[in-house]
Amino acid sequence: MKILVLNSGSSSIKFKLYNMDDKSVLASGIIEEIGNKNSKAILKFSGKVVTKNLEIINHEAGTHILNQMLKDNGILDSLNDLDGIGHRIVHGGDKFKSSVIIDDEVIDIIKYLSPLAPLHNPAHLEGIKSAIKEAPNVPNVAVFDTVFHQTMPNYAYMYAIPYDLYKNYHVRKYGFHGTSHKYVSQEAAKFLNIDINKFNAISLHIGNGASITAIKNGKSIDTSMGITPLEGLMMGTRSGDIDPAAITYLAEVLDVRSKEIYKILNNKSGLLGICGTNDMREVRKMITQDNELAKLAYSMYMYRIIKYIGSYFAVLGRVDALIFTAGVGENDFELRDDICNKITHLGVLINKELNQKQSSDIRFITKENSPIKALVVPTDEELAIALDVKNLILKK
Ligand code: ADP
Repeated sequence: MKILVLNSGSSSIKFKLYNMDDKSVLASGIIEEIGNKNSKAILKFSGKVVTKNLEIINHEAGTHILNQMLKDNGILDSLNDLDGIGHRIVHGGDKFKSSVIIDDEVIDIIKYLSPLAPLHNPAHLEGIKSAIKEAPNVPNVAVFDTVFHQTMPNYAYMYAIPYDLYKNYHVRKYGFHGTSHKYVSQEAAKFLNIDINKFNAISLHIGNGASITAIKNGKSIDTSMGITPLEGLMMGTRSGDIDPAAITYLAEVLDVRSKEIYKILNNKSGLLGICGTNDMREVRKMITQDNELAKLAYSMYMYRIIKYIGSYFAVLGRVDALIFTAGVGENDFELRDDICNKITHLGVLINKELNQKQSSDIRFITKENSPIKALVVPTDEELAIALDVKNLILKK
């Protein structure tokens, strides 16, 4: 069974092609700078990298080039030979409680939800339409970042604002990175040999974007991101939690519209805003050079994570595991060490050697006698999407 996973952004399409019989990756790559003169298509397969520099005017042209490149390199005769195409969709609002096979109604709802994710959903729709055009015989499946968090209770997802604003404008917490939180929690439960329906965990997806989720009996009961991916932890370029009054205040003193403030909070804040880089590796380098702002940025970043861990411990009661995943969570052993050493009173006893071991496998980082296990679980959102596509297609 061959499944293609597409992650369509406003100017790019990331792709990964799987042979689901053994979950191997047949090819992967990106069509980037779509709509720009510098656009190119990069295809990776069997240890090779093929790059095509050419003007790609839109997603439709990008998907066509992908089809050609897969054919020219003997990977696939045509996209029409696929068993399914999975699309990563950022916002499913409260309309989708699971992944779905895409039809006209699904397309309409994704479009309807676009105001909640203006940078993402319209681009995903371009990706979907292009895939349907290029491979009309292949079923398309939508897999939403929000779905895993649809199990949050209303008192966790509601904001304490006039109820009408929720009723009329859908203002509530939705949460994101759901595909990753679900995948790593399921992998962790399997690894620990605990029935997922009885598994309690706190999962930390810490990449450039970062979020933390409280998982009770295998289900999300709270998560740090909100109506958009801006709320919660301090991130690479996003502020995370901030007093909303700061926004109106800044709009006034800077004499700019709220859109500008939104850009500042999304693209110019977080690690970048405090010390000038959004890459944790750079922050580390700057800390070794005694850069005070890098030290401050790192302390703020870690402090926010610890506060959230504490609050999720409180709401969960029993925690079986703390899960670290994504770019920073999987690779930065110093951050894991610093966090775990600050929460020994909660029963997390880190094993320094295990924690420092470099590996791409799921692994313990706590001592054998640690009351709460901490694990590194490499995330694989594309594989999780491909698995959902496979399951839905087999059910059809
Ligand atoms: P995204 O949110 O874009 O999917 P990723 O999960 O790929 O992000 O994480 C990317 C981030 O991971 C980089 O910006 C970098 O800060 C961080 N990162 C990657 N490798 C390391 C490392 N060895 N040490 C510390 N941070 C790392």
